[in-house]
Amino acid sequence: MRVIVCENYNEMSKTVAKLVASQLTLKPDSVLGLATGSTPVGMYNILADMCKEGEISFKEVTSFNLDEYYPISPENDQSYRYFMNENLFSKVDIDINNTFVPDGSTIDPKAECKSYEKKIAQAGGIDLQILGIGKNGHIGFNEPDANLNSQTHLTDLTESTIKANSRFFASSDDVPKQALTMGIGSILRAKRIILMASGVSKHRVVSELLAGGINTDIPASMLKLHSQVILVCDKAAYSSERLGVDIGGTEIKFGVVDENNNLVYQDSIPTRNESQQVLIDDIVNKCEDIMKEHPITGVGVGTPGIIRNGVIMNIANLPLCNVNLSNVLSDRLPVPVEVSNDANCAALGEAMCGVGKLVKNVVMVTFGTGIGGGIVVDNKIYQGRGSAGEIGHICIEKDGRQCGCGGSGCWEKYASVTALIDSATEAAKANADSILASLLKDNGKLTGRLIFQAINEGCPVAKDVFDNYIDYVVLGLKSIAYVFDPDMIILSGGITNAGNAFLNPILDKMDMDVPVTISALKSDAGVIGAAMM
Ligand code: PGA
Repeated sequence: MRVIVCENYNEMSKTVAKLVASQLTLKPDSVLGLATGSTPVGMYNILADMCKEGEISFKEVTSFNLDEYYPISPENDQSYRYFMNENLFSKVDIDINNTFVPDGSTIDPKAECKSYEKKIAQAGGIDLQILGIGKNGHIGFNEPDANLNSQTHLTDLTESTIKANSRFFASSDDVPKQALTMGIGSILRAKRIILMASGVSKHRVVSELLAGGINTDIPASMLKLHSQVILVCDKAAYSSERLGVDIGGTEIKFGVVDENNNLVYQDSIPTRNESQQVLIDDIVNKCEDIMKEHPITGVGVGTPGIIRNGVIMNIANLPLCNVNLSNVLSDRLPVPVEVSNDANCAALGEAMCGVGKLVKNVVMVTFGTGIGGGIVVDNKIYQGRGSAGEIGHICIEKDGRQCGCGGSGCWEKYASVTALIDSATEAAKANADSILASLLKDNGKLTGRLIFQAINEGCPVAKDVFDNYIDYVVLGLKSIAYVFDPDMIILSGGITNAGNAFLNPILDKMDMDVPVTISALKSDAGVIGAAMM
């Protein structure tokens, strides 16, 4: 099966219209096999325009449609005869007497099917057959079934087809339950076949068709028995992209990751956290906008807090406490939604697409106001019962500094950037003539950047504070290395922007053979990791 992937629906329609036009140019009296559905409509419009411009003519063409509901009258505006008259036959110069659609009003379906096959044969067989594909892999109304029919026949529609087609009827109860359809053999007898597929809803079936063998669960896979089949589809049907959402206190980031794990789109909106409704509406609306432009097959969301049985707990500053965010978003978005803790997402992003992409087991440590962590085992987030990875709360000092978690002596009270700044501020105050003290005076408060500046300017007080800080950092990292023996420990957070000035002192003191390195994706890791879920 040859595959032509077009940028979008319009390009797909143009491509197929051109192929049909060359068929008519080479053989003006071609016998065309035609399809209904939303997929070929754009292509029929282009053919109608080409015909109007005199580029092609249907005067000598004979056409056979794939299928028709049963029972249905040809005058019914839901009949496929009506559809073809509306969408093509009335717009081109075809002789309506040479257009054939199975008769849905027949009282003898068996005889109608037999005579339909005969008419195709009498016309010399189909030169070019156009097909759409159902989400369940059907072509025509050949539904997945262990016993596929070869000839034109009367068939029962599956629930999934009735549901898919109910969009054209007042309700699914109004969709006819049967149809007359050309069989797989009738289709395969065509000299050439073009299978069209468009939109993200066809992505799953197109990937299964292309990746799998020939099997009756996907009737379209029978086309692999034919040597002259071209699948013409758009990117949305062919390739999939995943959407990551990273909910932060001040902004919500959105990122789209393609099949090669490249970040192909990125945007953010301010976090409006006045109510749960507003926050969730904002997320849903933005996701829906992005889905209009991208073939999204899944959404991953990273959020602060601890997630137990899908429910967010221990979340400050955001109105998402006790919310099952994945259920809430899944109800409103047309694709599956996964939710995990944001530090876990960042670890997954870095492990899959950043410095950890060549290894499988990674622990990421984020140094900031506190210390966040994420554990990735075999390229999957290790969640434990929902809150694994809270490595900032490893106790490194019995009866040590009081921590917000209710405990004391937690690693983050000694090795977070907040802890570094607190110690540096204390030391500056105790050493009024130090460079650090003058930087504190000039700037009103110290930052990580100012502490590195003091060290660079030769301040022994800053150097002492930093060395002591690094001892604590290393203490925690060594514990992580002993527990997990990961392929790599990845460091992230604003302080890692200092590069080797932060990393080298750590490496000097680690004296273990676990590789320790700095995040490559920086602040994109969270959104990429969310998408990767
Ligand atoms: P669609 O239907 O073009 O409306 O998606 C295709 C089919 O079911 O064959």
